[in-house]
Amino acid sequence: MSIIEVKNLSFVYGIDTPFEKKAVEDVSLSVDEGEVIGLIGHTGSGKSTFVQMLNGLIKPTSGQVLLAGRDIWEKPKEIRNIRFKVGMVFQYPEYQLFDDTVYKDISFGPRNKGYSEKEIDEKVRNAARFVGLSERLLKESPFDLSGGEKRRAAIAGIIAMDPDVLVLDEPTAGLDPKGKNLLLAQIMQYHKQRKNTIFIVSHSMEDISRIADRVMVMNKGRLEMLDTPRNIFAQVEKIESMGLRVPQITKIMMTLKERGVNLPDGILTVEQAFFEVVNLLKKEGKI
Ligand code: ADP
Repeated sequence: MSIIEVKNLSFVYGIDTPFEKKAVEDVSLSVDEGEVIGLIGHTGSGKSTFVQMLNGLIKPTSGQVLLAGRDIWEKPKEIRNIRFKVGMVFQYPEYQLFDDTVYKDISFGPRNKGYSEKEIDEKVRNAARFVGLSERLLKESPFDLSGGEKRRAAIAGIIAMDPDVLVLDEPTAGLDPKGKNLLLAQIMQYHKQRKNTIFIVSHSMEDISRIADRVMVMNKGRLEMLDTPRNIFAQVEKIESMGLRVPQITKIMMTLKERGVNLPDGILTVEQAFFEVVNLLKKEGKI
């Protein structure tokens, strides 16, 4: 069943001013419950503007966002409720932290949603566990945490609201490779249990190819491509013409294939590449 349907969505900044700028233009798509959608595109292609329309942070200039079949702007006064259902973690979410303890920060969303103290406590602790934040840190000030911990605390604050749709704008930006992989694995673990819908904006083609069911490619405000990672990254020339790249391992495997090595198309991860190369060597009796 589709949970989000976007119909002819457009957004223009500074309408009727000399700075008028079309940021999103006529984007339509339908997303099923439980899908993970990767969102890629060059800087300025409209990704942030698009995701901010999913939870009503900005109102479309034209077009609609339907959540479970209803236009989120049907009752403008209730738009705040949409933010509990579509949770958004911004780029550098640590700036979303503001309270004097991590616990209070994470509990802000569920408290506003009207849960009892007991339910709030359960949600805070669960969310902290999902993002790998130890109980001990809940009593600390968010400002005393390390960069990675702040990131986790901010994500936990959104997860604690138990949103049906989770939007993550560059959740691993600025983390070291180990922290990046760990956080991504934890997000996917959460997704596996909660089975909610996720939009994830990322510059990392490796991350996107690993976790997304489908990939949206935005270019100059338009939705240029929408397909599985495998089909998207098979179109190297088109991807590169939009200032993007395919995962490095995909490129290496394609180069080998062009040079006559008998490998399949659409290898997206190092693990997959390893498997295919070992298979090939075995077939050829080399190992
Ligand atoms: P992305 O997230 O892909 O980098 P954005 O959605 O941030 O893209 O931006 C899309 C376009 O809208 C860009 O040309 C950008 O300069 C412009 N834009 C973004 N925010 C604003 C704003 N607050 N005012 C005016 N123009 C903006």
